[in-house]
Amino acid sequence: MKTRTRFAPSLTGYLHLGHVLHMGWVWGEARARGGEVVCRMEDHDLSRSRPEYEPAILADMEWLGFVPDLGISAGHAPHPSPYRQSDCGAFYGEALDFLAEKGLVYGCECSRKQIQARQAWAGGELRYDGACAKKNLPLVGNTVRFRLPPGAVEFRDLEMGDRIQSPESQCGDFSLRDRDGQWTYQFCCVCDDIRHGINLVVRGADILASTGRQIRLFQALEHAPPDYLHHALLTDSKGRKLSKRQRSESIAALREAGIPAGELLAKIP
Ligand SMILES: [Zn+2]
Repeated sequence: MKTRTRFAPSLTGYLHLGHVLHMGWVWGEARARGGEVVCRMEDHDLSRSRPEYEPAILADMEWLGFVPDLGISAGHAPHPSPYRQSDCGAFYGEALDFLAEKGLVYGCECSRKQIQARQAWAGGELRYDGACAKKNLPLVGNTVRFRLPPGAVEFRDLEMGDRIQSPESQCGDFSLRDRDGQWTYQFCCVCDDIRHGINLVVRGADILASTGRQIRLFQALEHAPPDYLHHALLTDSKGRKLSKRQRSESIAALREAGIPAGELLAKIP
């Protein structure tokens, strides 16, 4: 089977040097395997996403020479598109119905504050205690949670080796849709990887903790999980992850300052 991976930027900011490193991994792994790259826009979070980032990101990608084989690109960005999450609510709804028919989701009326009050923070993540698992609450108007099966998830990361994760103790039954009807990252990501035929997920090590729970979703949706490769992140001189929150310079700003693409690519280890 031909390798198909993806580049999936969120529309919450401009590309920065961390993205250049990441794109180098994605395109590098695809090319090394004779595979292809899908570009999709992760704008499931309607409160934080801004559509104007999309053309800016696409222009930066094209300038840097990272051209996707499928999905959205600078020359092809139709509205609507199956490669833009904000256009795909109906599809996520169908996937949720599938899980609901199997009894694998439930409505939860707890606020974040209530969950916090009941639980200690575990490893930096808030764990949901399943308080509503047997209440049979309606899905609409409540948080929709995935009923995690018990037990650990084992997988082999192509870069980081054998891993064992326990989503049950990390986060508990996690949310697929919030009470306002907004889809979550975990759910959109898995639904999209399935329908886009992704068989290799290449992403930063900051997402590693999500992998076990995403594998659980693949299994619940009756689909084989892809292979995973989590790569180290670009850090600043103090060892912190580069991100727009730290105001690391955007690619767009560097480009406007007249820095050649080749010079930026050369900065990446
Ligand atoms: Zn609850």
